[in-house]
Amino acid sequence: MRILVTGGAGFIGSHLIDRLMKEQHEVICVDNFYTGTKSNISKWIGHPNFESIRHDITEPIRLEVDRIYHLACPASPVHYQSNPIKTTKVSFLGTSNMLGLAKRVKARFLLASTSEVYGDPDVHPQPEEYHGNVNTIGIRSCYDEGKRIAETLSFDYHRQHGVEIRVARIFNTYGPRMLENDGRVVSNFIAQSLQGKPLTVYGEGSQTRSFCYVSDLVDGLMKLMDGDHTGPINLGNPEEYTILQLAQKIRDRMNPGQDIIFQPLPQDDPKQRKPDITKAKTLLGWEPTISLETGLTETIAEFTQRLKV
Ligand code: NAD
Ligand code: UDP
Repeated sequence: MRILVTGGAGFIGSHLIDRLMKEQHEVICVDNFYTGTKSNISKWIGHPNFESIRHDITEPIRLEVDRIYHLACPASPVHYQSNPIKTTKVSFLGTSNMLGLAKRVKARFLLASTSEVYGDPDVHPQPEEYHGNVNTIGIRSCYDEGKRIAETLSFDYHRQHGVEIRVARIFNTYGPRMLENDGRVVSNFIAQSLQGKPLTVYGEGSQTRSFCYVSDLVDGLMKLMDGDHTGPINLGNPEEYTILQLAQKIRDRMNPGQDIIFQPLPQDDPKQRKPDITKAKTLLGWEPTISLETGLTETIAEFTQRLKV
């Protein structure tokens, strides 16, 4: 199959491309390299089944493809908040362009949505039926509301034009190739430990997240794309940790004497997050297989190698 991956030079997109290439698909990566890097896809450059196109998806593009994994969008708060208007534009205009493409070429379209559509949830864990608690005017809104309108557009293209859609609500995902400076919690704590700096916990560290290793997530995305269910379907690891527990875990493995310091909690930071993955289990036969311990070992090893260079 000929498969387009938007955002393919990014963290999750590049791992997805590795899997698709190994399955011998023809893969087109479209990325403007805002938060993605050429090194993430360099091993495929020159391969006859692979093509990389530098393009900003807020502009239309004409391609002939069978499937579209639509991942292009900065994902870490630091990056999506640095140009929030652009984040909203990529969520709306970018998704609109990619759905228009899917409609023209009759491609199946998968949207990489997010647990952020649940906002600061007052239902726990979050099932897909929960409609969320999102601030429309806060500093996270460009991303949260951006993904909500992207979901709306996807379902309207499905109902109005019969486009085959799949919607994944991805929960916090981590692994090799995360940018060391992207401000996300796992990459921050590992980079800080490598640099011998104190680990920065925001607030009291009592807020929770559930961390999914990237290979599990990619597996879930592919099962969703290949299956018969539109979703939305939660993809994430239901093992929940407080941020303080995560800091202690990483500190104790990497740098046992290091300090943990407390800094102000950012505005609208969700207090808790954990996916209900009943649908993914029953409809896709998917559940995570990689423990936090194993996933951290892989991630720490890759960061250690990369940051030494
Ligand atoms: P990432 O920032 O590493 O990747 C995003 C990619 O999109 C980058 O390569 C970037 O250059 C590209 N991009 C951004 N704007 C673009 C534009 N206008 N045109 C073309 N390319 C553009 O992030 P990621 O963690 O790999 O996330 C991938 C997708 O998964 C995103 O849509 C994100 O919202 C979603 N997601 C990720 C997580 C997570 O924990 N990593 C959680 C929920 C949802
Ligand atoms: N966080 C933290 N220290 C950091 C970076 C993040 O305590 O150095 C917290 C952040 O406030 C949030 C959680 O870790 O409560 C997860 O943050 P991240 O940006 O990784 O993801 P998101 O908030 O989008 O789930």
